[in-house]
Amino acid sequence: MKTIVIGAGTAGCLVARRLSDAGDDVVLIEAGSGEPFPPSIRTPNWLGAQSEPGWHWPKLTATRTSASLPTPYLRGRGLGGSSSINGMLTTFGPIADYEAWPISGVRAAIERVSNDNPTVRIEPGAFSTMVCERLDDAGWSVGPAPLALSESSSGLVRRSSTRYLEGAPSIEVLPNVEVDRLILGPAGVQEVEFASGERCDGDRVVLCAGAIATPVLLLNSGIRSDEIGRGAADHPSIAVTYSLDGGAVASGPAHGAPPISMVAEREGVQVLVMDHIGTRVDDQGLGVITIALLDPDSSGSIGIDRQGQPLVDLNMLSAGDDRRRLVGVCREVIGLVEDVPHVRCLEPIPDGATEASEWVDAHLGPYSHVASSCGLGRALDSAGNVHGVAGLRVIDSSALPHLPRTNPMLPTLVLAEALAGVACEPNDRPSSGP
Ligand SMILES: Cc1cc2nc3c(=O)[nH]c(=O)nc-3n(C[C@H](O)[C@H](O)[C@H](O)COP(=O)(O)OP(=O)(O)OC[C@H]3O[C@@H](n4cnc5c(N)ncnc54)[C@H](O)[C@@H]3O)c2cc1C
Repeated sequence: MKTIVIGAGTAGCLVARRLSDAGDDVVLIEAGSGEPFPPSIRTPNWLGAQSEPGWHWPKLTATRTSASLPTPYLRGRGLGGSSSINGMLTTFGPIADYEAWPISGVRAAIERVSNDNPTVRIEPGAFSTMVCERLDDAGWSVGPAPLALSESSSGLVRRSSTRYLEGAPSIEVLPNVEVDRLILGPAGVQEVEFASGERCDGDRVVLCAGAIATPVLLLNSGIRSDEIGRGAADHPSIAVTYSLDGGAVASGPAHGAPPISMVAEREGVQVLVMDHIGTRVDDQGLGVITIALLDPDSSGSIGIDRQGQPLVDLNMLSAGDDRRRLVGVCREVIGLVEDVPHVRCLEPIPDGATEASEWVDAHLGPYSHVASSCGLGRALDSAGNVHGVAGLRVIDSSALPHLPRTNPMLPTLVLAEALAGVACEPNDRPSSGP
């Protein structure tokens, strides 16, 4: 059986490995580069990875709220996909999120992902330590950040999803090949067309292009339903910058360390502290506190324009209590840090309600966690098959039934593990003829 997997990202590498182990001949197609990785992709300080030319989609933008203009949105491109440029924070989040998925085998998938993804914890930097002490005193749950790093002869290096490809017997990786569309034939989708115009055929296709490119590819292939692209969501987040001096600049990414060492959470809100990331023009250090809602009510959509380019509308802070909660928690966290020695908030939140809401709009960013744009049970059946289209399934963060209440890399791997298990079952394979 020949299976075409589109996208060698977080989910795609795992899916390709499981299908290959089950005996499929796998063709794994990736729009971006293959190995070798540039040094910025391997280093524990991921700030360079996110601006490495060629390792993200440079023209991709997203609209945050109905009142904002599109701004750049990061997605990984190249082997490993977003797992090659992300913040490496490795968390499962609440188990109840997985129990709500309309699929079986999730517990076993969690266990396998957990075994396959050991993490490393690092010493917290000075700024994180001081901020997290305040959060701990105020009742936040504070702990070391589990990071997707491993030891190598040159020290700590990133562990991207490409580890799933190591030693795989029957995977043909095609880097630098962008798929333009899926060809819908009488037997469903068994062929894809590249941007170059060339085609590749197989017995079935698994789409792992991520939460933006997957719905875009479906729509550009004429596979349309109201559910494709609907429900796309990200965690609304605010980055607050601090000027650091004295003891607060002793450690951090400017000294080669990973930017994040601690995580604080409370009632669906996550706080991450980036230690000394560089020096300001006035010779002071620079630190960042990021505050994000992990359980927003708001969601948006992904569509295409007339040229078939992505239209990403995150529609953040549009529903429920999202805006009021974000304003409230920003006020609390900034207040808790106010008298920490050696640090000064460069953009304090204003007192008035209207001004604070405007401040949130001005500082609002996406968290690069977009997911759930083709959710299982909505655009897809519970095995990831696209309704009404034979030979085509989706296995990536777009298929997550809901935006996870945590950083989505591990939930994406759990979903990929569970759905790859279904795709490997003998009765799931299309008949290969008489
Ligand atoms: C900057 C950043 C920081 C993040 N930080 C964290 C974090 O610390 N912790 C965490 O848990 N999550 C984090 N995330 C989110 C997490 O990385 C993603 O949710 C997850 O990797 C998504 O996996 P995926 O397989 O759905 O997509 P991806 O990993 O993005 O893979 C999709 C792949 O498909 C390829 N592709 C797309 N279109 C085509 C096409 N037409 N033809 C061929 N190939 C194509 C892409 O190039 C890419 O390689 C972060 C994400 C980013 C971008």
